Amino acid sequence: MSSEQIAESIRGIVFDVDGVLTNGRIIYNDAGVESKHFHVRDGASIKLLASKGIEIAIITGRASPMVSRRAEELGIIHVVQGAESKTDALKSLMENGFPSHDLCAIGDDIQDLQLFNHPSITLRATVADAHPVVLSKADFVTMRAGGEGVALELAELILKAQGKWDFD
Ligand SMILES: [Mg+2]
Repeated sequence: MSSEQIAESIRGIVFDVDGVLTNGRIIYNDAGVESKHFHVRDGASIKLLASKGIEIAIITGRASPMVSRRAEELGIIHVVQGAESKTDALKSLMENGFPSHDLCAIGDDIQDLQLFNHPSITLRATVADAHPVVLSKADFVTMRAGGEGVALELAELILKAQGKWDFD
């Protein structure tokens, strides 16, 4: 099946953070405080997806207050940080009301392959500058690199496939 066909039935999206919603760079200042750069257009696209009934989750292997803050700004309630196992994290989200089938996962690195192999994940998405192994397993690759507004491309794919894209 093409990524457009799979996208027709997608009910939820699981976003990785580092390398997907950011460019993957983690900046430390002299005090050891981390910063990351989020793209404002990802925020708009995530809100658009949610407004069209697509459930949004974040699962990240790292943990930082910036991710909590960004999730809060975007109204994302399904968030797991510091996930040692992304599949265990997905299971816990499902136990708390996140859809249990017809999901998209977008990730950029080898630990995201856990989700790519999960039976609930039907649309495997990644970013242009992802790890080569992840690129080779993905159904959909964004033209943009991580941190450059990749959610916009995922929103367009899914909402067009579902007849919910209002901008044509
Ligand atoms: Mg990542």
